[in-house]
Amino acid sequence: MEENSSDRDRRVSRQFIKQEYGGIPELFYSHSTKAPFEHCISCDRALQAPNTQYLVEKAFRNYPEFETTDVIFEYAMCLNCADQMRKELSLSSLSRIQEFFENRVNFHLRRDQLMQSDSLNAPAWLKNCLITGEAQPSLEEYQIYGHFVDNRCVYSFLPYMISGSAVDEITNLLSEKTLGEIDRFIDENFGLPPELKKPIRDNPIIFV
Ligand SMILES: [Zn+2]
Repeated sequence: MEENSSDRDRRVSRQFIKQEYGGIPELFYSHSTKAPFEHCISCDRALQAPNTQYLVEKAFRNYPEFETTDVIFEYAMCLNCADQMRKELSLSSLSRIQEFFENRVNFHLRRDQLMQSDSLNAPAWLKNCLITGEAQPSLEEYQIYGHFVDNRCVYSFLPYMISGSAVDEITNLLSEKTLGEIDRFIDENFGLPPELKKPIRDNPIIFV
């Protein structure tokens, strides 16, 4: 398929987005091992091998009455597998999601502001919902996303946090075909029990 000029501009501008690197923040460690993720959940590739790029997604639920936070699910996926997943999605879903982010988020402005005020301090990047601006302590559910290269965290458009309510908005943009594809992908790759499937299906890592 031919890309139109705005797609091309977007791709080119993404290639030149400034990236800086920090260590992996503990927030992005695996909750189960208390250490950085070692393997891609889909292809099992070693993620700490030099120059291996991957994404981490973790979903949290807050219980303010108990002053505690649970990790609902978490995984790391190499960029190859994430691209593969993206290719399985319908074009209409992808373009609706792209449009949603373009209308609601100024990634360049956000990045510049955070770089000036908080540089490579991940908690500051994750404090407010990327879409709604809501602050984390008031959220019942939220998900965080990060981009990594071996043992380094990439600061560019990511890392970011998305609140549960914004996740619902995004899910509503996905076509039935796409939801079916995501279900199939999860079945083939994750082998998760049904209660864990829903949050992943609701928010696949296709936004980078
Ligand atoms: Zn992989």
